[in-house]
Amino acid sequence: MSTQARVYTGRFAPSPTGPLHAGSLVAALASWLDARAWNDGHGGRWLVRIEDLDTARCVPGTTETILQQLQTCGLHPDEPPEHQTNRTTGYAQALQRLREAGQAYPCACSRRGIENAWARLGIVHDRHAERIYPGTCRAGLQGRRAVAVRYLVPDTAPVIWQDRRLGMQQQDVARAVGDFVLHRADGPYAYQLAVVVDDAAQGVSHVVRGEDLCDNTPRQILLQKALGLPTPQYLHVPLVLAADGHKLSKQNGAAALDLADPLAALQHAAAALGLPRGEGLLADALAHWVRAWRALYNPAL
Ligand code: GLU
Repeated sequence: MSTQARVYTGRFAPSPTGPLHAGSLVAALASWLDARAWNDGHGGRWLVRIEDLDTARCVPGTTETILQQLQTCGLHPDEPPEHQTNRTTGYAQALQRLREAGQAYPCACSRRGIENAWARLGIVHDRHAERIYPGTCRAGLQGRRAVAVRYLVPDTAPVIWQDRRLGMQQQDVARAVGDFVLHRADGPYAYQLAVVVDDAAQGVSHVVRGEDLCDNTPRQILLQKALGLPTPQYLHVPLVLAADGHKLSKQNGAAALDLADPLAALQHAAAALGLPRGEGLLADALAHWVRAWRALYNPAL
């Protein structure tokens, strides 16, 4: 599928649900640094992909704000940004392939239905517990109307992968997550499917993103294998935590970045990544961090 997989290609993939905040700038800076530090500082490609499929959560005008924020911080993509809403044909084709191969199936279960299925097995979840899909519709729809298509997670060995910061990782997706949604009848294609199709189509060789997405990686690796797509290398960077100890987000009051002084915002992001202070002009500080990043993660290997 990709003709560019041999060239280092990284990406930053924001969802335009709000402007960049201190936490999302860390992910943006890390992925930019990793690409720029590649090949002894000669650099790889760095792309920006706007993950705007979930239109109900996207806020109009935010894409432009994010792109402007990146530009103000000196983080310039090598190609015009892609938008997932323009790429749905690829998701539909991938879904079709999975269905034809018997690796995806229609599901009629509502959230309540899934809860009831667990209750029939005598299992009641805490209010905030992860809901694992019990596989009810593997046996067919029994005349009910499909509301989603799910990936049939193979019940084989756990997925094992090497994260460049966190080391060896593993997850038994069948037990930890169950058959997960690829597409909802009344909604967008799921993030898991879109991200896998796009990373391959754009030749992404290295994914650098926040640690909160780490436990999505095994689902993505399973889909890559099912679709015959290459698996990129992964590096999950530390999260910026809010005062309540949770990931900084709009919900817990992450302030929009103050970009009157972009260098100050970047100093904070660099500190969160364990990088030394960068002095001088914006461009000098960024060049200093590229060298420091190389020493930390050696992205030419
Ligand atoms: N769009 C996702 C987010 O904003 C990031 C996806 C990714 O980097 O894989 O959380």
